[in-house]
Amino acid sequence: MTQSAVVQYALEPLAVELREIAVPEIGERDVLLRVGAVSVCGSDVHQAYNTHSWPVAVPVVLGHEFAGTVAQVGRAVKGFREGDRVVSETAAEVCGDCVLCRTGRYNLCPTRKGFGYGIDGAMASYVKVPGRCLHHIPDSLPFGLACLAEPHAVAFNAICVNSTIRPGDLVVVIGPGPIGLLCARMAALAGANPLVVVGLSNDRPRLDTATRLGATRVIDAQLESVEDAVRGFNPLGADLVCDASGASRPLDLALTLARPDGQITKVGWSPDLVPVNINPLVQKNVRLQGSFSHNYPIWERVIHLLDRRLTLPDAIVGLTSPLDGWREAFDAMHDGRVIKSVLVP
Ligand SMILES: [Zn+2]
Ligand SMILES: [Zn+2]
Repeated sequence: MTQSAVVQYALEPLAVELREIAVPEIGERDVLLRVGAVSVCGSDVHQAYNTHSWPVAVPVVLGHEFAGTVAQVGRAVKGFREGDRVVSETAAEVCGDCVLCRTGRYNLCPTRKGFGYGIDGAMASYVKVPGRCLHHIPDSLPFGLACLAEPHAVAFNAICVNSTIRPGDLVVVIGPGPIGLLCARMAALAGANPLVVVGLSNDRPRLDTATRLGATRVIDAQLESVEDAVRGFNPLGADLVCDASGASRPLDLALTLARPDGQITKVGWSPDLVPVNINPLVQKNVRLQGSFSHNYPIWERVIHLLDRRLTLPDAIVGLTSPLDGWREAFDAMHDGRVIKSVLVP
């Protein structure tokens, strides 16, 4: 049996095409998932333009943000049956033996391989998924929103696990891409106020969405001074700066904006290496925290948030398309015309 899939076949810009490939065979610990919806990640777009910061094993089917129906179940899989509606975590392969795996932080396993770059992903009719990656979703949560659980989990980990926010904290989110906007929404839910979201002039529509998601102030950094605006709220600076831009340079700005004894959480990354003056980190006793991926309890929580629509997920999805419209779905995100595209295979 064959299926259409969006395949990255080389490490060059736009080496991506719709291909006929075999439907995967499952092992005894896997399920075969009929993909109900798969959202396009900034990382899929980066891979398509060959501007990613992680190793990609080509050829590979793209897509790691997905929901669907269990179509076939391996003999050793417990707790899931044919017809179950599920979402899947992204750690397709982990060692299972290291201290991180054994303590539930398998997202940080050094051997981790994720769907869509190390293992075939979900931009296809069917995807093979280890049973341990699955979570049930309620019938009240449609696939077109459930697929957003993965970027939700990234934002929840960055803002609600790796950062500390108390009601009334001054929080700044740099970079209003999908992850930045979801980080802003998580910060709003956690009680951040004022909540400032910073972007560039071509981010205008995304900054408007940030306001809908709970930002109390949005700043076009090309038109006004972010530092002046933040110090207008508190002369000491921000309690938390979340850098969700896909670049390294804004770490300088984050170090400027964080108040003494404040925090910086960096969730966006890029291949650029830039010199940064790290001295304010020491001088201000700032905690700089990276945030990567997510694990089981985070997924259970974001499924609840999505089901209750507490994160206003409808504000994020701008385009829904069949698989053969993948190019427009990617370009619309790349050009900033939509925040998030969803493919329905
Ligand atoms: Zn993603
Ligand atoms: Zn491990």
